[in-house]
Amino acid sequence: MPATLVATHAPTPVLVEDLSNMERAVALYASDMPDRYRLQGPVDTTLIGWIGQGAARLGREEVRRRASFLLGHRRLWLRDLTTPEINRRHKQRFPSARRLNVAESMASTSLFWVSVAPGARELSAAIDGTCPKCDGTGKLWVNLVIDDVSGWFEEGYAPCWVCRDGGAA
Ligand SMILES: [Zn+2]
Repeated sequence: MPATLVATHAPTPVLVEDLSNMERAVALYASDMPDRYRLQGPVDTTLIGWIGQGAARLGREEVRRRASFLLGHRRLWLRDLTTPEINRRHKQRFPSARRLNVAESMASTSLFWVSVAPGARELSAAIDGTCPKCDGTGKLWVNLVIDDVSGWFEEGYAPCWVCRDGGAA
């Protein structure tokens, strides 16, 4: 798949291949893509264009920020850990659940046409509010496995796996 440069209005053009799956969903949400969009053809260049459009509208850093919050919200939601505060901010950012759904599924599909560049930075999760897992401390008291074979472990603090996943800062 050739490199696809689509964003021309951003101060720094955003390459679609530098955007992770979730960042593409955020970009699509912010683009002109209709809520009821259906894919056109085996490689939908219009859709790729919308990813670039949305990314250009928000700017590279904002796309990443929103995607990190989206990932954080997803992690909490999957474990039924979301709080009213976190849910409210999520809804402010993505008022339409239906549109977000479409954007996420289209973003996943786009990975078949434009894969994520090997050098693209990994997305880390962020919680928009107090993390309900660690109470905002960023660490959890856990059993740290020292030796798998003997089953030896010690207790200690580890980074909270919900809000501190060791990705890029
Ligand atoms: Zn946490």
